[in-house]
Amino acid sequence: MQLTDYIRTIEDFPKKGISYKDITPLLMDPKASAFAVSELIKGLEDKTVDKVIGIESRGFLFGMLLAKALGVGFIPIRKPGKLPSVTISQSYDLEYGSDTIEIHEDSIQKGDRILLHDDLLATGGTASAACKLIEKLGGELVHINFVIELDFLEGRKLLPKAKVNSLLHY
Ligand code: AMP
Repeated sequence: MQLTDYIRTIEDFPKKGISYKDITPLLMDPKASAFAVSELIKGLEDKTVDKVIGIESRGFLFGMLLAKALGVGFIPIRKPGKLPSVTISQSYDLEYGSDTIEIHEDSIQKGDRILLHDDLLATGGTASAACKLIEKLGGELVHINFVIELDFLEGRKLLPKAKVNSLLHY
């Protein structure tokens, strides 16, 4: 199965100059999305993971499927003000300005083995901020995986490279 057949590129979305990778065709096809999950799982060198963490919002989609496939819990990382209990936050730089993400303070137990997931790796700012949150709470980051990686943006450079795996590269 060729997963790239299920990724649609929309030019100039959400703003001019961005070539947006749309995973909704993949989500609509149960065989293709099940294949994507099994390939992401296959890419995990060590499958002994305690929790899967997904980054808002498209990281929730395959993140939850990965958690189910591994038989472990799922933790959301969200934009500010969305999580209802006590959170810790991490800011990161964007091309213009900055952004912040949050996680529930009690979601990770010290030493928990974590798989971090997002749909797409671009500049790496978001995933690298997520790694810092996991570290702050004492989690052990075992793997980071993505459905798509935009190689030319070199986001991998901001992450522990050996732990990163992406299904599709553009
Ligand atoms: P970054 O922090 O630059 O690695 O951006 C990653 C986040 O932005 C991910 O959560 C993606 O969902 C989203 N994103 C960035 N660039 C794109 C793109 N070209 N197509 C779809 N989503 C993108």
